[in-house]
Parts: sequence; C-alpha cells; structure tokens
Amino acid sequence: MGPALSESSLHPYDWDDPPSRLTAPRSGRAMSSGTVSPANADDPLAPTTGHGPLDSMKAVHHRRLRPLEGKPPGTLLVHEIYRSLQGESTFAGLPCVFIRLTTCHLRCGYCDTPHAFTQGEILSLDAIFAQAIELGDDLVELTGGEPLLQPEVHPLMSRLADAGKTVLLETSGGVDTAPVDARVRIILDIKTPGSGEAGANVWSNLDRLRPMDEVKVVVCDRRDFDWAAAIVRERELHRRCPVHFSAAFGSVSPTELAEWILESRLPVRLQLQQHKILWDPSARGV
Ligand code: SF4
Repeated sequence: MGPALSESSLHPYDWDDPPSRLTAPRSGRAMSSGTVSPANADDPLAPTTGHGPLDSMKAVHHRRLRPLEGKPPGTLLVHEIYRSLQGESTFAGLPCVFIRLTTCHLRCGYCDTPHAFTQGEILSLDAIFAQAIELGDDLVELTGGEPLLQPEVHPLMSRLADAGKTVLLETSGGVDTAPVDARVRIILDIKTPGSGEAGANVWSNLDRLRPMDEVKVVVCDRRDFDWAAAIVRERELHRRCPVHFSAAFGSVSPTELAEWILESRLPVRLQLQQHKILWDPSARGV
C-alpha cells in the first residue's frame, strides 16, 4: 500500500494549481476550459463524513473532481479527441481513436497527462460519438484522466460497441469497474507504492478481470517491481489476462526492467511507452 495521502502531498498540477497552457494535439483537437454550474448528482467518489485517514483521502479526491461540478446530465467533460497508434496494451501499434476525458482523482508522481486534470470542453454524447465515428478507426479508447469519474462514459462506450467498434477503457484502477459494459475491454492499472497512489487501488476490480481484459503496472523502482510481482503471483493474474509491466519514464530504464522480468521468470510483458519513442516525450495528442 502507498503512503497516506495528505494535502501536502498533492501533485503540483492540482485543482488549485492547474497547468496554464494547452497546446493543440498533433491530430484531432484539444478542448478549451469548460464552464460548469450545478453539482453532478452521480458522483462516483462521494466522500464519507468521518475524520479518519481514509476520509481525508476521499475528501482530497472529491476536491479534485471540482471541474465536473455543474456538468449538465448527458454530457461529458472532454479534454481531447484524436487519432494515434494504440501504445499500452496487446493492441499496441494499431491506429486508434482516443477520447480523453477531463479530471482525475489521483496524482501519480509520473503522470504525463496533468493537462487533463482540469482542462476540457463540455460536449454532448451525440457530438462525441459523431467525432469518433468520423475519425474512422475500428479501435476506440476511452482514457483520461480517469474516464470512469463521469458516469455518462458508460452509455457512450455502449453506443460505440453497438456501432461495431472495439472499445478499450484505460482506467487507473481507482474506480469500481463493475458498471462497465461487458463488451468493453478494460486495461486496468495497478498503482504501485512508487506512484504515490497505491492506497487508491480498488482491489475488487482484480476479481472481475476476464481474459479479454489487461493489467498494466508502471514500475518506478525495484521495490515496485517486487511488490507488483508478488501481487501477480498471489492472484495468478498472468493466468487470467495479459499483464504488462512498464518502466516509469526517467526512473527505471526499460533495459533494467527487462532484466528484472527475465530474472523473476514471471510471464509478464515488458511494455515500452511507444508514443515516447515515436514522438517527443512531452508531445500531446499522440
Ligand atoms: S491515474 Fe493516470 S491520469 Fe490520473 S494521475 Fe495517475 S497517471 Fe495521471
């Protein structure tokens, strides 16, 4: 489990200190800052009212959802919609339409999408669906931020599946996946101690994994690797679905991680952050 979350541990790009710039993506378009009004009634992270550490953590998480306050029902706060190559699953290398939703309740130390914490545009499900269909690829991924923080993502995913799309959902592992349409392939993160967010893992999500789903672990150091390897072994995750280990950019070299995987004899896959190899590591919309 990760360290207890406190106000002082907040990532620099928190709600109160959002990134000030948003550059256009390589393809597709980025959205402008959204405007919102009354509170969203379907809050998936509604805080409890006690005073323990868990309640403090939930309160911090809840505060980070402020960009969603007042979003009209039936809409989504969208950061960007664009085409690129899928890079973080067994679908890696295939052209894919990405729908990146705004906000995340977590603040992983290695996060490369802090611009999606607060910036976005409110769009109707019809408008998002139309853009995804127009971009044309058979593969569509919902990502973020954390896409499951907006309940309207569920009817959108179902509609895309109805249209014959292969729908991927990339989720932090910090939100319950039970309501996800059975046709959607879930790429589930397990947050390690090195991420700073291991305390947010919803462990029951692992019980729901199917062969069509995938697990992803971003490894920050050797301690993370050993921690994650123990979970994979104990829960036999590698027998249930593909499991990917990825090196946190700038913390662990992929070569080092490859050696740890070989040494462990665990049948997990080394995942390279393809978009950081193909394009500038700081590029957006790729
Ligand atoms: S869950 Fe994803 S989007 Fe959220 S902070 Fe972590 S890496 Fe960033």
